[in-house]
Amino acid sequence: MEKTDILSLRINELEEAIVSLGEKKFRAIQIYEWLHKKRVVSFEQMTNLSLEFRIKLSQHFYIEQLNIVKKLESSIDNTIKYLYRLSDGNHIECVVMEYIHGTSLCISTQAGCKMGCNFCASTIAGFKRNLMPSEMLLQLYETERDSGRKISSIVLMGIGEPLDNYENVLSFLDILSSEKGTNMSLRHVSLSTCGLVDKIYELAKKKYGLTLSVSLHASNDEDRSKIMPINKVYGIGELLKACRYYINETGRRISFEYALMEGINDSKKNADELISLLKGINCHVNIIPVNKIKERDYRADRKSVANFASILEKGGLNVTVRRTLGADINAACGQLRREHEAEA
Ligand code: SAH
Repeated sequence: MEKTDILSLRINELEEAIVSLGEKKFRAIQIYEWLHKKRVVSFEQMTNLSLEFRIKLSQHFYIEQLNIVKKLESSIDNTIKYLYRLSDGNHIECVVMEYIHGTSLCISTQAGCKMGCNFCASTIAGFKRNLMPSEMLLQLYETERDSGRKISSIVLMGIGEPLDNYENVLSFLDILSSEKGTNMSLRHVSLSTCGLVDKIYELAKKKYGLTLSVSLHASNDEDRSKIMPINKVYGIGELLKACRYYINETGRRISFEYALMEGINDSKKNADELISLLKGINCHVNIIPVNKIKERDYRADRKSVANFASILEKGGLNVTVRRTLGADINAACGQLRREHEAEA
């Protein structure tokens, strides 16, 4: 009999599964709290269930696990980067970042990525598979357990495209925010997408309180198509139309990510184009000095970052420049996994 990944079940799905085993429904809540509040790693630890029932559970379900392969701690700013091995041998990364308002965890949603953005290390080794909800939750559970830090917010900005693993990401969000689990408000969650327009419409209808970040990175279709293949499927016009719909449906403003790359997207013309594209949209622009990756030659010029930001501000946009964290530990997404898999 094939066993079920119990950590990936929403509470109502677990209730159904427990009732179908001939057990009382309230048992599901007890089990769910063991898994998601007390975060046990075996059925044996569920001591308010009879031994017989625990054995039955272990015959029908399994509890997924992650193993730490590498842990890098920044000596500059307390950033921690974990390389985790999944139970099938694939690898993913997550990063703990300290901010004034709390501790944030950047998690992966896929092993690898299909999107092909050519400045991003996550896509270079190709796509392996989607992560299960359990494997996203365990990045939080294992990281809190190992680091002893309490995570106050989560960004889905690690390896992978979250909207390309849509159903599992929704289950993850439901379990993360459930009262009987971690009970994290989705106001403390950001989801970053390269722009899968059909899924942005679907997500808007869910009216989650999360922050949607959209990786724009260019100010016109010609430039964007050169660095982000997804732009050939959904151009900037279509993307921004979906963003306006998202803002109207959810009442939340959108954050546009713009990785500044010298000579690629950092000219005055680019800044002016960006201002006219985003004018009137309830949004915020986050400028990221591009992280250097070994395989590519992209660079950010400090002066042009400040200059670009100031042109956008004068043009009436809300702008922040992302602080570089973990510069000494290769904290840009996908680099650690890429190196580890290349060594293996
Ligand atoms: N697939 C999603 C989320 C993962 S990437 C997305 O595209 O949004 C998270 C963010 O990091 C995205 O904005 C991505 O474009 C950006 N990013 C990837 N590689 C980068 C690099 N080398 N320097 C700066 N930002 C990068």
